[in-house]
Amino acid sequence: MKAFVVYWHPESKSFNHAMFITAQQALTNSGWEVVTSDLHAMQFDPVSSRANFKSVKDPNYLKLQSEEAYATEVDGFSEEIKTEIEKLEWCDLMLWQFPLWWFSVPAVLKGWVDRVFAMGRIYGGGRLYSKGVFCGKRAMLSLTTGGPAEAYVEGGLNGDIHGVLRPIHRGMLQFVGFDVLAPHVVNGPVRMSDEQRKTELERFSRRLADIATEQPIDVGSY
Ligand code: FAD
Repeated sequence: MKAFVVYWHPESKSFNHAMFITAQQALTNSGWEVVTSDLHAMQFDPVSSRANFKSVKDPNYLKLQSEEAYATEVDGFSEEIKTEIEKLEWCDLMLWQFPLWWFSVPAVLKGWVDRVFAMGRIYGGGRLYSKGVFCGKRAMLSLTTGGPAEAYVEGGLNGDIHGVLRPIHRGMLQFVGFDVLAPHVVNGPVRMSDEQRKTELERFSRRLADIATEQPIDVGSY
């Protein structure tokens, strides 16, 4: 069992960082082999550009998907991108740990997807959704919010969290073939006591201990 944990938060003393460490410990204790990408520590550049490639298909006009398809053919991805692609291809389970920013992933994590989910290698040629490259693998979002739980239900201030996360679940993870596990959400850790936050870390640990047998969810149509 091989797990890949992708994490971004700008502060290494954050609650998200505590969840990132908890995830690694819980998975390792349950027999998972774990690799990580701590995008902040890596100073990962989120801007997709010619730096994604060693190869060049068209030096006069940068069309990213054409360059991605060409790099797939000629093994032309830069070392930085190749390393991330190989982690994706290696894992059985991918987990993203992040704070919800503007109803989405923070920009660096979005940029990681922009650069790493490359046409040709990761999707394309009819390999999408149930025929996706990563069919048989599972993915799970683990996130914190500023808003309270009651704001993230149908009819609540922000609406159902599943609707908020659907562009990520459907447009990124299922798009490339992953089955999606229920998101793990910690609402409002900023307003919790230390004791409550500790309880949340324990709840996360317990869930991850049994993650190998969890069934995927239907991400809905919203
Ligand atoms: P932190 O502030 O890092 O941590 C909370 C507390 O936990 C701190 O006191 C910390 O010391 C403590 N802590 C750290 N480690 C431990 C530990 N091991 N044990 C116990 N306590 C610990 N919210 C929304 O709901 N929707 C949005 O769309 C949204 N958009 C945002 C956009 C931006 C640009 C920003 C900056 C924020 C946004 N937010 C939004 C709020 C954001 O989601 C929350 O601030 C974030 O999720 C809180 O998590 P954190 O890890 O940053 O908390």
